[in-house]
Amino acid sequence: MRRNLGFLLKSQRDFYKFVFQSIFRTSNLSLSNLKVTEHLKNNAGKTLFSIEILPPMKGESIQNIFSAIDALMEFKPLFIDVTYHREEFVYKEIQQGLLKKELTRKRPGTVAICAALMNRYKVDAVPHIICGGFSKEETENALIDLNFLGIDNVLVLRGDPVKSEGVFAPHPDGHKHATDLLGQVTAMNQGKYLDTNLQNPVRTDFCIGVAAYPEKHFESPNLPTDMKYLKMKIDMGADYIVTQMFFDNQAFFDFVKKCRESGINVPIIPGLKPMTTKAQLSALPRVFHIDMPQDLVKAVEQCKDNDAVKQVGIEWCIQQSKELMQFGVPTLHYYTMSKSTAIKEIASAVF
Ligand code: FAD
Repeated sequence: MRRNLGFLLKSQRDFYKFVFQSIFRTSNLSLSNLKVTEHLKNNAGKTLFSIEILPPMKGESIQNIFSAIDALMEFKPLFIDVTYHREEFVYKEIQQGLLKKELTRKRPGTVAICAALMNRYKVDAVPHIICGGFSKEETENALIDLNFLGIDNVLVLRGDPVKSEGVFAPHPDGHKHATDLLGQVTAMNQGKYLDTNLQNPVRTDFCIGVAAYPEKHFESPNLPTDMKYLKMKIDMGADYIVTQMFFDNQAFFDFVKKCRESGINVPIIPGLKPMTTKAQLSALPRVFHIDMPQDLVKAVEQCKDNDAVKQVGIEWCIQQSKELMQFGVPTLHYYTMSKSTAIKEIASAVF
């Protein structure tokens, strides 16, 4: 019986691979199938273009995502990140005036979107995997699905708290920190599953990215403590770092210096987002716990409308991108929020 389980896992994996590869063969497509670190190594000395997208809201078409990405494909992203969104509380009326509080996932579909992106664009997809809302077994099953689909890249994160709760609470049988989830992924890379009775289970081969915060994670008492846990993630086997957005490059340069001094030597990818509305002057610091440089604040405050803000945001991001490129970053990673016009203008000026 033990033997059969291991065999089943392997044959199921081969079956999925066969089906997936058959689809690619019949549609005359080929998979890129490289790890993020391989892309960076193959393009050493160059700065690549990469993006993050969000799955559409439940009920929306995937075509919305395709339209945004189609417009950016001329800049040849070699990998595309897809965020993961945990469930949120919604209130449903069950009788007149009587409300029921329910948990629902408003942006499902991360794994399927990754497969669709690889199919349509021949790029490598990087699904975000989060602790929040998942038991260890559900995480293991998701990782098995990814492995069967030939997706060998993951960005491992703790995840945001449930909206309206403010404080992160782990699933009772889940992970509390990205380090714990990272431990599960690296264990599977060594062929260690939750069920220790499997005979010769397949070793996955995930390339693992982790998040970092040049201006410190908001819950961390200080930057050295945050850096200590970042170093722990790298020592545990994370292959590269993607940063939170920032608007002052000096924060990134200082952060990279501190990482190198702490013995963190993996690639550090800067995350960038252009400002597009005046409301973001307070929304971005509130949601992402980042500072805005005074020059940018002043320029946005002087704008008559959001069209003007968008132009200021694009110009700022172009300058940031050019300076980061000169610094020698491996890729400029843009948070698109699944919209393309601003990013297209920036990429046209930079690449
Ligand atoms: P952790 O590494 O667990 O860190 C959280 C806090 O705990 C930090 O203060 C850290 O210093 C501390 N800490 C870390 N390890 C330990 C430990 N072992 N013991 C004690 N303290 C520890 N959220 C989503 O929900 N979905 C997404 O798709 C998503 N994508 C993101 C992509 C990027 C590039 C970034 C930067 C963030 C993303 N987020 C996403 C947000 C992220 O989940 C939140 O910022 C979350 O609050 C922290 O995630 P983390 O992986 O950094 O957590």
